[in-house]
Amino acid sequence: MRYFLYVQIMMKRIFLVRHGETEYNARGICQGQLLDVGINERGKTQAQKLALALDDKNIGAIYSSPLKRARETAEIIGQNLNLPIKTHSKLIEGNFGVADGTSMNIVRTWPTYPLWINPDAKYDDVHYEKGESKRQIRERVLAALAEICALETAENILIVAHSAIVRYLNWSVGNYIQQVPNGSVFEFVFENSVLKAADNERILLLSCCAPCSCAVIKTLAEQKKNFAVVFYNPNIRPYAEYLKRRDENKRVCQLYGIDFIELEYDNERWCALTKGLENEPERGKRCSICFEMRLKRVMEYAKANGFTAVGSVLGVSRWKNLAQVDAAAHIASMQTDFPYVSIEGRKNGMQELRASLIKELNLYNQTYCGCKPQAKIGE
Ligand code: SF4
Repeated sequence: MRYFLYVQIMMKRIFLVRHGETEYNARGICQGQLLDVGINERGKTQAQKLALALDDKNIGAIYSSPLKRARETAEIIGQNLNLPIKTHSKLIEGNFGVADGTSMNIVRTWPTYPLWINPDAKYDDVHYEKGESKRQIRERVLAALAEICALETAENILIVAHSAIVRYLNWSVGNYIQQVPNGSVFEFVFENSVLKAADNERILLLSCCAPCSCAVIKTLAEQKKNFAVVFYNPNIRPYAEYLKRRDENKRVCQLYGIDFIELEYDNERWCALTKGLENEPERGKRCSICFEMRLKRVMEYAKANGFTAVGSVLGVSRWKNLAQVDAAAHIASMQTDFPYVSIEGRKNGMQELRASLIKELNLYNQTYCGCKPQAKIGE
């Protein structure tokens, strides 16, 4: 007699959404479990856009956090997809303790904040006073997903939740998202109780030059990440220098078989945006505007061309202030409603790899960042 063993593989596709904007989000107030308000007009528009974008995803069930902002977002999507909303208590936003209701401008100055947004697992137990840790948030949401997936017959499930939940679930699959815009959606696969990144993730990496990007490109290529490199650097002067850096960056991409995209060289617009800041030092106000302009344009391009997030190597050089790049990415991300993923280009041997690749590939290594703010256009 022959026996057949049937192993049932449970596989669900999870679409995880951050709720639409609230007035507290617009005012930059940290919003955890305590401030239970609905979404504003912009938030409603974001939810309507999401509803249209999710139309062809064959969603069979919608779950929401019990908080009003998530439920209202879910209801707008549910009306379009003709599906009821079920709430799950474990999908509630993190408890941020004393940070809840505090301006983010203040929270960002607290010693806890850099650890809170650091994806390194050694900071998993970090929490604000009287609040939940990142580990506690992640574990209760993973438990909620397991419960929902075990109950639901639908294969594609939509979850409407909050920024900390979206961020920490992404981190758990190695996707180091930092900025989670209101109304953004992330796709995962939940297979046999394990959460994985969906196979359609595609990152657009903004590169300023070959020396700053070579180690990141090599590492991501070896990790078989789905990504392309974009060269959008209208800050570089003179134009001959721009071409030199572009060609060198293209050479590195060709070496590792990575798509290279060049966007327009609109140096006149860059000059107009930074007018009056010519005498600012490097890492000053001009650099913030320069980062914001480039990241915003790249996010718009990424959004229109099927990418799922933008990353950059703008903070890799030791001459740069990573916190300044991250702050610019935050602004660009909020303005475009597109996620930014943090890419480690300095620690864990990356600087050493960078130095050895510059030597090995004989890369052109410039002696200045890019702009020549005091020079006339064309120089
Ligand atoms: S120094 Fe570099 S980052 Fe700063 S404005 Fe000039 S090109 Fe941009």
